[in-house]
Amino acid sequence: MNPRDELLEQRIAGLERRIAYLERIVKVSQILNSTLSLEPLLRIIIQSATELTHTEACSIMLLDKRTGELRFAHSIGEGSEGLRNVTVPLDNSIAGWIVRQGRPLLIRDAKTDPRWHPQVDEAIEFDTRSILGVPLKVKNEVIGVMELLNKIGDRGFSQDDIQIASTLAAQAAIAIENARLLAELQHAYDDLAELDQLKSNFVSIASHELRTPLAVILGYASFLREEVSGEAGEQLEIVLQSAMRLRSIIDDMVNLRHVDTGEVQLERDIFSMKDLITEVTSEFAQLARAKQQVMHLDLPDDPLKIDADRQKVYLVLANLLSNAIKFTPSRGRVQISAQKKGEEVWVSVMDTGIGIPQRDYNRIFDRFYQVEPTLTRRYEGMGLGLSIAKSMVELHNGRIWVESVVGKGSRFTVALPISPFRAVPVATS
Ligand code: ADP
Repeated sequence: MNPRDELLEQRIAGLERRIAYLERIVKVSQILNSTLSLEPLLRIIIQSATELTHTEACSIMLLDKRTGELRFAHSIGEGSEGLRNVTVPLDNSIAGWIVRQGRPLLIRDAKTDPRWHPQVDEAIEFDTRSILGVPLKVKNEVIGVMELLNKIGDRGFSQDDIQIASTLAAQAAIAIENARLLAELQHAYDDLAELDQLKSNFVSIASHELRTPLAVILGYASFLREEVSGEAGEQLEIVLQSAMRLRSIIDDMVNLRHVDTGEVQLERDIFSMKDLITEVTSEFAQLARAKQQVMHLDLPDDPLKIDADRQKVYLVLANLLSNAIKFTPSRGRVQISAQKKGEEVWVSVMDTGIGIPQRDYNRIFDRFYQVEPTLTRRYEGMGLGLSIAKSMVELHNGRIWVESVVGKGSRFTVALPISPFRAVPVATS
């Protein structure tokens, strides 16, 4: 073969090696993108590393931050199964040097190197000759080392080998970091689930334990209120009001818990929405009168018959009405209107109150969300009413939304299907 052909052949062989290398890197990247399980990925990384660099063995060691030692995470080669419980110190070891320096190290004759740590070879009866070690880095922090052992043939490790090892070590580092993040996330989810359970238990015990004494207070206070007049009567009225507020908070908590645990079931009945609105409004008339507010009803002749859970719809309307009165200043106006719209009944509660900024239109339906931060609030409340109302409306396959102008007032609208069988659920706006 003439020298030109020989050169050409060498070049072709070099290019073929490069293609094989690139193919492996692409394959590792594909696997990295498609799986979050560490084991198969590390296996293919170290397998690729030994094949592409022509070495006898390869291992990945990870730094154990608590003990400050390196532990074998994965390895292939003779005796590698025995490495599971073997550790390597950071002091006086080649791997330790790589971790501390954060750069690759190439050693032709390991046993003559002063950093040589013979215990690993002794533990698994392996004979290390040459080593190529590269650090595993995550955001500039070294988390471990990948070592390739015993280059096959006479040539020794090349620059290409260092590049291959570095690229694969980078992939391994990403995989390890992903797995760590995933485990952390899982841990956080577990903690959250446990907290949620604790909260649920607490709410159920607390509400149960509070209800009985509260019923006694309410009973005696109402009885005495009838009997006593004058200043003592006014003071009793305050006791009664506070106890009723406490009861409504407990009811809110119990309702939410039932929504969470899926215990809420609809007890359907055909009733007149018009009658229900009249009933709720008369319950709140006294509250509005105390604030000298005008309450106006705008209802059609149609009784607005609907097949729904009357008590739950009552709860929705009571929440809306109580908010309208609460967030509207004295002498303001609150209006309730209702009409049939296609296969639905629409009920709107309008007020001339403080209004709600547009960015909060959706958030006010979240639990505990209040437009004004709790600590600076001028209004009472826990931020639960609307989230309960929304859950109840959605149980009926209905929708609830708000339109408002800050400083002018708000309009909350509830759209409920007249019959559950003709419900056309539409996403909430
Ligand atoms: P709460 O009234 O107990 O704070 P809600 O869930 O009923 O809780 O309401 C959440 C928040 O939405 C309220 O804190 C208030 O900021 C706002 N909001 C509700 N209704 C009105 C309304 N009619 N006018 C102005 N703001 C309202």
